[in-house]
Amino acid sequence: MLDSLEFPVATAPGPGDVQPIAPGVLWLRMPLPFALNHINLWLLEDGPGWTIVDCGFALAKTEELWQRIFAVQLGGRPVRRILVTHYHPDHIGLSGWLTDMWQAPLWITEREWLHARMMTGNAGADYAEAAGVFARRAGLDAEDSKIFGERHASYRRGVPSVPPSYHRLSDGMVVEIGGREWRVIVGEGHAPELACLYCEETGVLIAGDQILPRISPNISVQPYEPEGDPLARYLASLKRLRAALPPDILVLPSHNLPFYGVHERIDELAAHHAARCDDVITACARPASAADLLPVLFRRQLDRHQMGFALGEALAHLHYLEGQSALMRQAGGDGVHRFTV
Ligand SMILES: [Zn+2]
Repeated sequence: MLDSLEFPVATAPGPGDVQPIAPGVLWLRMPLPFALNHINLWLLEDGPGWTIVDCGFALAKTEELWQRIFAVQLGGRPVRRILVTHYHPDHIGLSGWLTDMWQAPLWITEREWLHARMMTGNAGADYAEAAGVFARRAGLDAEDSKIFGERHASYRRGVPSVPPSYHRLSDGMVVEIGGREWRVIVGEGHAPELACLYCEETGVLIAGDQILPRISPNISVQPYEPEGDPLARYLASLKRLRAALPPDILVLPSHNLPFYGVHERIDELAAHHAARCDDVITACARPASAADLLPVLFRRQLDRHQMGFALGEALAHLHYLEGQSALMRQAGGDGVHRFTV
């Protein structure tokens, strides 16, 4: 599968280091407290200062690494704005800390900002319970549902604060950064309104989590929208991106290594979901809940963090196939929703 992609740089920058990766773009890495243990962030030269793209999960270590980068790598120039691709904690986590430190604005799409504010506000109080009910309906037992609910309500752990105001990014908008034009291309399915940034002049795409080279971006039904069909939106977004992007651009993804082969990777991701859908249809010869599908879709042992992603992913495939009229849903007397061909 990976033969079709080309990775121009074999080694990622070490902690606290930066590495030039494209004209005007520095690449850096921050740690994450998960099995997926890193995120790529970007520093863009921006005239008399810098634009940061994505912030990192709120960890003391990440703050320390940022301080080291600010002291050594910025050439005495200030950060002028903080641009965030989407509301997930590894991307927006330290946005409040960074905007305060630099007295710089947050640039983000409206729906991503609203989600981040919602997840860090009072609305979080009843969310654990709602997410627990959601997990029960998907077939997890009482104990796993409780853990699922608590995990979904733990957003604030990685995001202590979100700036109370923002500068809006929207689909098609052109952002001038360091004399270059970067066009916003919104992706859906992984997050509500994820901002990818494309620079036609240099042939570079900052992809966020919309397109990743080695793992399939998480596409999950979320407890806040239990009837959602994010896979339909994700597949439609992939088509739009494929049509909007030339084949030979350099993709800067939020995880793993920068790569060439964007069309090939989009085709692989679409094929991956088609194969998953085939597996789900086979498994649904008898009525199956999302929880019943976990051993079918994820052949490895899952930790609880991964379990939370996995259940939402199983539901995403079930809802997509239901939307395509390939599966039908029944609510059992036990309250669990099961799907069958
Ligand atoms: Zn994400």
